[in-house]
Amino acid sequence: MIPISKPFIGEAEKAAVLEVLESGMLAQGPRTAKLEEKWAAACGVKFAIATSSGTTALHIALLAHGIGPGAEVITTPFTFVASVNTILYVGARPVFVDIEAETFNINPDLIEAAITPATAAIMPVHLYGYPCDMAAILAIAARRNLVVIEDAAQAIGADYRGKRVGGFGTGCFSLYATKNVMSGEGGMITTDDETLARQCRLLRNHGMERRYYHDILGYNFRMTDLHAAIGLAQIARLEEFTAARRANAEYLTHGIESVVTPAVRPGYGHVWHQYTVRMDGGRDRDAAVKQLNAAGVGAGIFYPVPANRQRHLVEMGLGDADLPVAERLAQEVISLPVHPQLSQADLETIVNEVNRL
Ligand SMILES: *Cc1c(COP(=O)(O)O)cnc(C)c1O
Repeated sequence: MIPISKPFIGEAEKAAVLEVLESGMLAQGPRTAKLEEKWAAACGVKFAIATSSGTTALHIALLAHGIGPGAEVITTPFTFVASVNTILYVGARPVFVDIEAETFNINPDLIEAAITPATAAIMPVHLYGYPCDMAAILAIAARRNLVVIEDAAQAIGADYRGKRVGGFGTGCFSLYATKNVMSGEGGMITTDDETLARQCRLLRNHGMERRYYHDILGYNFRMTDLHAAIGLAQIARLEEFTAARRANAEYLTHGIESVVTPAVRPGYGHVWHQYTVRMDGGRDRDAAVKQLNAAGVGAGIFYPVPANRQRHLVEMGLGDADLPVAERLAQEVISLPVHPQLSQADLETIVNEVNRL
C-alpha cells in the first residue's frame, strides 16, 4: 500500500531524540526555544510560541485575543474539527461561511454577510496547504475591526503573494505526525506582536513567568524538548520537503485525466499537505476510494462530513447552516498520496490507478 502520509524519520531525528534523553532534561527547554526561533524565521515573523499541539495553539491564540463567551468567530465548515472545537473551548460561537469549490477554502465574498455585532474574529483555514485569499480577508478584518487567526496547521511554508502564511494574522500551526513538518505532536503560534506573544507564553505555562508566581489562569500546553528535537531536525528540511511535494503534485496533475485536479491560482504558494481531487457529477466517490485502496493506493477523504454536521455541533443547532458547496465537496473529494517519500514508481501507480476510475 502506498500510504497517504508517511512521517520522515531519519538519522537526524533519531540522534536528536537520543541526545535529549542523554541530557536528562526532557521538558520544555533550550531545544524548544531553538525551534521557536527557526519557526519564526521560516514564517518571516518576530515571535513563535511552541505548544503541545495545533489544537492548543489555536486555543491559546483565541484566549490571548480575549475571545470568549458572547463572541462569534467566523470560520469554514470544511476543516478538521479542531478548528471549530477551539472556538467552543473558549465559550465562543462558531459561525460557518461556505467555501469556494475551486480552492476548498472559505469564500471571502460571503464573509461580510455573516458579520454581526458579536463577531470578534475570522479564522481562515489554509486547507491542504493552500493559502486563503488573505488580501480579501484582511481587508474585511480591517474594515470591521476583527482579529484574524490563521489555522495554518496544514500549511507551514505556504505563501500568498510572496509572504508566508502565519504572518497575516495570528498564525497557528500543527506538528502532528502527518503534517508537512512534524514532531509527533506539537503546535506553534506566530505573531509580530510582542504583547500578544507574552500573553501566549503565559497561557501556555500556567500564567508563570517567574517560577511559582502565576499572573493569570494558564494551562499546561507546553512542548517537550523531545518533541522539539524532532521538530528541529524537520524544519531544517522544510524547503526540500516542500519542493518534493510540489514536484509530486505537478506530476499527478500532469498525468491524471479521470477526475478534477486541484488548480493553483497565481500568487498562491501551495505546499500540498494533501493533493485533493474531485469526483464531480454525482460519481460514486466512496466506491472509488475502495477501488484505489484495493489497488494499493492509500486514498483518503478529508473530510467526509462538514464540521457543522458533527453531532455536538448539530446539538448546538448549527447542523442546518446553509453551506451547499461544503456539503457537495464533502461528497466529492479524494486525497491522494503526495508526500516527499513517494518514488517514481509510486507516482506512476497512483496516476494509472486514478485514471482507471
Ligand atoms: C491538524 C490540524 C489541527 C489540529 O492540530 P493537532 O496538532 O492535531 O492538534 C487543526 N486544524 C487543522 C486544519 C488541522 O489539519
